Amino acid sequence: MIYFDHSATTALDPEVLQAMTPYLTEEFGNASSVYGLGQRARQAIDQARDEVAAFYGVQAKEVIFTSGGTEGDNLALRGVAYRNRDRGQHLITSTIEHDAVLRSADGLEAEGFEVTRLPVDRHGLVDPNDLARALRKDTVLVSIMHANNEIGTIEPLAELVAVTRAHSSAYFHTDAVQSTGKIRTRVDELGVDLLSMSAHKLHGPKGAGCLIVRSGVRLEPQMLGGGHERNRRAGTENVAGIAGLAKAITIADRDMVTNAEHTTRLRDRLIDSVLDRIPHSELTGHPTRRLPHHASFLFQGVEGESLLLQLDMEGIAASSGSACTSGSLEASHVILALGYARERALGSLRLSLGKGNTEAEVELLLDRLPGMVARLRAMAPISAA
Ligand code: PLP
Repeated sequence: MIYFDHSATTALDPEVLQAMTPYLTEEFGNASSVYGLGQRARQAIDQARDEVAAFYGVQAKEVIFTSGGTEGDNLALRGVAYRNRDRGQHLITSTIEHDAVLRSADGLEAEGFEVTRLPVDRHGLVDPNDLARALRKDTVLVSIMHANNEIGTIEPLAELVAVTRAHSSAYFHTDAVQSTGKIRTRVDELGVDLLSMSAHKLHGPKGAGCLIVRSGVRLEPQMLGGGHERNRRAGTENVAGIAGLAKAITIADRDMVTNAEHTTRLRDRLIDSVLDRIPHSELTGHPTRRLPHHASFLFQGVEGESLLLQLDMEGIAASSGSACTSGSLEASHVILALGYARERALGSLRLSLGKGNTEAEVELLLDRLPGMVARLRAMAPISAA
């Protein structure tokens, strides 16, 4: 199989599995237990926390381990909104966020909070001037992702944070699920107050992640129970997952430059050749401000889902923003937010590369894809004008 879907998830790195294995086997202790077995689990968590903190340039106490990106996003939005209700009830986000952010914002809105959803331009960029205009005295949180999962665009976070600081006392949260391990994500450089990430996007385990919360940020826990994670996230710690997360981050940090060079070379070959070989094709997302491993396209007159099935028959795994939900094709909210009509938006394809992909795999895809698109167009119900 050729795997071009690293933005969906990644294979566990063997080194990560090795780091996790003791805590799934003989070192099974509960980190809250006083005896040696428990204390060794506690030490593993402490060490992982130190490593994650060093990677993001924060203090260890500013790391909250979670079950992944969805929980981190939920905790950031709901935790800040509820705890700061006395200061204001206005939140700002963008139209291209992951559902974990968008649905959290929707839920808060239904409870009486006000939400402004900033538009993006054709490349998926949020305009700092739009943010400046949207900020109000009662804005408590701005949540704008670092890089988009569907189109790979990297947002101008430094400018967005600067504008937020200049106009308000709102906290700034960023969803860094797709950017962590791919580009620099040091919290002290980005200047954000909260950042969420997920281990399974960088060869770590599924169901593990963290939310960085800078000291002084007022946050209401969303999981109630014991006093874990300094009373901010109750629940017996996922020791193996946490150890795996830290290992995955350490490896991603060590190999970031090499991996980025490798995937950028493959990505650029993919983008140039797809656009060259397939008529009526278009790159989505920003041409240069994009994740190094990410290529995404629109093919006129093609349904992305059908293309995925064709690719699958050739043993190639990829993804499309459009999805078949209850019998009808639904266009991605991200592609629609770029300003494309529904029919056009249905023809999206995302190819996300990883360190294990080779030039031969890219050439094989480039060899097969034009024929598949042509065949689908010949039988497609959508007109290929
Ligand atoms: N945010 C973004 C940008 C994502 O791409 C994803 C996963 O696809 C998530 C959040 C959710 O992360 P998790 O799968 O760890 O819940």
